[in-house]
Amino acid sequence: MKALRPDARGLARAAAVIRRGGLAAFPTETVYGLGASAFDPAAAAGIFEAKGRPHFDPLIVHIADLRQLRSVAAEVPPAAALLARRFWPGPLTLVLKKRPAIPDIVTSGLATVAVRMPAHPVAARLIRLAGPLAAPSANRFGRLSPTTAEHVLRQLGPRGVMVVDGGPAKHGIESTIVAFERGRPVILRRGALPDAEIAAACGLRKVRLARAGAKIRAPGQLRAHYAPSAPLKLIKPGAAADPRGAAYLAFRRRPAGGFTGVEVLSPSGDLREAAANLFSALHRLEASGARLIYAERVPARGLGLAILDRLRRAAAR
Ligand code: AMP
Ligand code: MG
Repeated sequence: MKALRPDARGLARAAAVIRRGGLAAFPTETVYGLGASAFDPAAAAGIFEAKGRPHFDPLIVHIADLRQLRSVAAEVPPAAALLARRFWPGPLTLVLKKRPAIPDIVTSGLATVAVRMPAHPVAARLIRLAGPLAAPSANRFGRLSPTTAEHVLRQLGPRGVMVVDGGPAKHGIESTIVAFERGRPVILRRGALPDAEIAAACGLRKVRLARAGAKIRAPGQLRAHYAPSAPLKLIKPGAAADPRGAAYLAFRRRPAGGFTGVEVLSPSGDLREAAANLFSALHRLEASGARLIYAERVPARGLGLAILDRLRRAAAR
């Protein structure tokens, strides 16, 4: 695997791979990102697979213009529009109500999507060609964030990931993440854009800072982490389960009837497909009115580890 030059040819190749459901790494002003189409659940699952992440996190969707913003966000409150006008492109991420076209795996099941317009010109050109990109940092899980194309290739080249070389990225500035609660900005993560600038732009003396891990409940059901409202019980595939008032999340095979709802993650046993379906399947089972959700264990390898992590957390509540 070689780095692609950031010229028309290199960008067209990377965009073509992304449009076919593949991955491409690209430079931003913070670090290199590992991008997939923000509208493709299997491609987003591929991001977690390539990174070897043992858990799911919501991904930031990177856009190049305001038309793309409207394609990912269902609502842009006036304070968000104001901040976007003032600080985009730049290291500011806005958490907004998502459009249904954004799959649940991109937001880890949240009703909101985190959106940023990066300032790196190569990122902007790629996103214009490929469409909005869901992207975390382009490193293997637990390794350092990459600031050069070389770093990316060393970690992800063996997994067949291509990278557009945009030169060294400036290091150590993560984006500031801002959500909106009843129209008012709340800082979820401090970053490169100082709180005071955000306050000043909004005409406020101070902007509220969300406590780490706090559950923020806003009209858009903004919560730090999605978990199904019904308790979940992990079982061996095919183990006996009482269907009365219960829903069933199967890995490969549909159980015999009587459940309020049944979802099969992947009939062919493909962990990427299973990961891509996980959050939307849980949403549907929750909506079936079940008092309990049985969830089959999936194989504890690759993306199966991230799926099991999510199911165990839901089961532990
Ligand atoms: P990064 O590690 O810079 O790619 O930022 C990703 C982080 O953004 C996640 O781990 C979350 O903390 C945050 N984030 C992304 N989407 C959302 C969302 N919809 N609501 C709240 N926080 C989010
Ligand atoms: Mg990272």
